[in-house]
Amino acid sequence: MTKLPDLESRRAIEQSRIRALMTAQRAGERAKLKIGPEHVAWVKEELCIGCDQCTIVCDDDAIEVYPVKLRSPILDVDVNKKAKILREPCTGCGLCVLACPTDAIVMIDR
Ligand code: SF4
Ligand code: SF4
Repeated sequence: MTKLPDLESRRAIEQSRIRALMTAQRAGERAKLKIGPEHVAWVKEELCIGCDQCTIVCDDDAIEVYPVKLRSPILDVDVNKKAKILREPCTGCGLCVLACPTDAIVMIDR
């Protein structure tokens, strides 16, 4: 029968494998990003779920969330949120792209 210490050790190995995989994946994504002052972030509104993750990581106060009416016919919620990038303060760092869980943000040329 499997003992608790065995499980804990397998879990630690698996955690470290997943962490290494995710770090490598993020590094790959970051390498492909158009980063720098000649680029600016852009939100694809249809993919944005208003989760606020991008505003948390943006150090430059370059993202605003604004209320929109929820379009779902089945959910009884009046207001949802969408993010929008403020072009001037955006430094093109790309952090928001990596933070967005729905891939709603892309980097475009200024
Ligand atoms: S690219 Fe950087 S500065 Fe621009 S909105 Fe995203 S996190 Fe903020
Ligand atoms: S992280 Fe992505 S989904 Fe969440 S508010 Fe920002 S743009 Fe929208």
